[in-house]
Amino acid sequence: MADRVQEPVSRTRPVGAEELRARYDKERAKRLRADGTAQYRGADGELSHLAEDPFEPVGPRAPLHTEVEFLLIGGGFASLTAAVHLRRAGIEDIRIVDRAGGFGGTWYWNRYPGAMCDIDASIYLPFLEETGHRPRHRYAFGPDIRAHAEALARTHGLADGALFSTTVTGARWDDGEGRWWVTTDRGDLLRARFVSMAIGPLDRPKLPRIPGLGDFAGHVFHTSRWDYGYTGGDEHGGLTGLRDKRVAVIGTGATGVQCVPQLGEWAGHLYVVQRTPAAVDVRDNRPTGPDEFRGLPAGWQAERVRNFTTVVSGSTEETDLVHDGWTAIFRELTAVAAGRAEEDRGGPLTRAERHDLMTAADFATMDRIRDRIDRIVADPATAEALKPWYDRWCKRPCFHDDYYPTFNRPDVTLVDTDGRGVDRITEHGFVVAGEHYDVDCLILATGFEVGTEHTHRAGFDVEGRDGAVLSEKWANGYRTLHGLHTAGFPNLFFLGVTQTGVSPNYSHTVAEQAAHLGYIVRWMREHERPVVEATPEAEEDYVAEIERHARQGTWYYERCTPSYFTNEGDLTDPRKVLAGAYGKGPLAFFALLDRWRRRGDLAGLAFPAGEDR
Ligand code: NDP
Repeated sequence: MADRVQEPVSRTRPVGAEELRARYDKERAKRLRADGTAQYRGADGELSHLAEDPFEPVGPRAPLHTEVEFLLIGGGFASLTAAVHLRRAGIEDIRIVDRAGGFGGTWYWNRYPGAMCDIDASIYLPFLEETGHRPRHRYAFGPDIRAHAEALARTHGLADGALFSTTVTGARWDDGEGRWWVTTDRGDLLRARFVSMAIGPLDRPKLPRIPGLGDFAGHVFHTSRWDYGYTGGDEHGGLTGLRDKRVAVIGTGATGVQCVPQLGEWAGHLYVVQRTPAAVDVRDNRPTGPDEFRGLPAGWQAERVRNFTTVVSGSTEETDLVHDGWTAIFRELTAVAAGRAEEDRGGPLTRAERHDLMTAADFATMDRIRDRIDRIVADPATAEALKPWYDRWCKRPCFHDDYYPTFNRPDVTLVDTDGRGVDRITEHGFVVAGEHYDVDCLILATGFEVGTEHTHRAGFDVEGRDGAVLSEKWANGYRTLHGLHTAGFPNLFFLGVTQTGVSPNYSHTVAEQAAHLGYIVRWMREHERPVVEATPEAEEDYVAEIERHARQGTWYYERCTPSYFTNEGDLTDPRKVLAGAYGKGPLAFFALLDRWRRRGDLAGLAFPAGEDR
């Protein structure tokens, strides 16, 4: 369906900054809840079937008792990228283990119809230059991304030894042997010199504690466990099983926005249950052309990746190489606006002036999106209900050209809960504002556990040297060096968002970590050092630095409508906000790692002496 542009319909909306801010505050107040993050639960206990793998049958296999040089927990792009760097560092013996039935990480699980990566494929898919893989669309669809992950694994010899449909149950460091002992739910006992954990920030489905969820007698599933056996079709559509069904999708985040157009097209009737409207900007996806990647100079991908992260960090670049909705946000919100004002004045702005400028630019950006809704959605009441009233970066920005037009279909109904969510789920449907909606199928597009403890998300605890337990060490907040090591847990590495510089292009974040890991492991091999760990002093300094910068941006987030970005509106614990990322931003973090490597003294790491055990 095309992003149909209609004549503007005259709608009332606040004008002027004060009126807008008052509207934002009013909408935010409706959504703040005393139960905060406790409004959610995991897909466990009586709802554990909602986390089962519908894609790969889990057959029996004999337990494996073996030795491995490097065990990577997680089969997504973080582990794959790390494995490539480890191979380059000379590590031959690598094994990947994942509870998923194959490679791809989040893209293994998220196979909902219409699933697409909203980061430009030329910067999101790693090693395009090396592999020659050419994404078929500018924003690649799920199957293309999964195929790339599988191809990377095959090319680097990671496919044969991989242990899938296997959940790690524990990891214990044996200091005498200098090895990790890792156990799994398949009875495996894996003895590894090195272990890395790349469990992904968005792996475990999160369910709303809506009363009655367990009572629903119809069909229910989470978007990351899409039941094509019930809906028919595949990731490209063709959901013929829904033709005669009344379907409700709960949730309008980045996932809801991508699957609603497909559901609208195929369901007998679709109810889109909305708590907070998404802010959906132009996507403008298109197939890549045959010449698109021809004649590019060596190093083009790294340059494009760097350029994107620079622009989206609010710094200026002469050329915006990706030039899409993401970079537009930052061009509009920060760098360009502030830069222009500074030029006009011929001197720097005060912090308050910068904030005012960003606020005004933010209002303009969101006004543009609200106008977009007015132009596209025919029914004025539906258009009003779809409008987002919050600052652009309070929720993850969304981009799609078929989402808003879906609401012009006669067989699609927006059920706006006015910020309060679903009251109750019954045997036959759901209740919003006292009205009961009968449905056959409930689809939960309710997201993933983000702020919960690392060891809970991993599903196992880790025992380091002298019986140190990771969940206990991190009970009051993460403690790492560079997000990669934690003292007392030798030869263990973390790849992900914790205490690192997070780019909206997650692949960039993990690429920098993987390169850093490769550097350290290569050095260890060259210097015959079998064991590495962070010193407590270096860790303390780094944690202090994280805390020093953690509150940057609080002025912006504290006015936000709740989301997982803001720990559901509770900013009192900055460690939970964006998992305690490096507050100075991804570029500063990558530069920090780069300077550290250039110094070459491996400051902050200890290499316990000893024979190569
Ligand atoms: P989100 O957590 O972003 O959204 C969950 C949705 O469920 C929200 O709309 C939320 O409403 C709604 N919800 C929760 N509880 C209730 C309730 N009780 N009643 C009604 N509605 C409720 O999850 P997503 O899966 O959409 O996205 C998660 C993340 O995954 C994204 O932020 C993004 O990082 C990633 N992603 C990336 C994509 C990509 O292209 N790269 C594509 C898809 C996802 P409310 O907003 O009010 O909280």
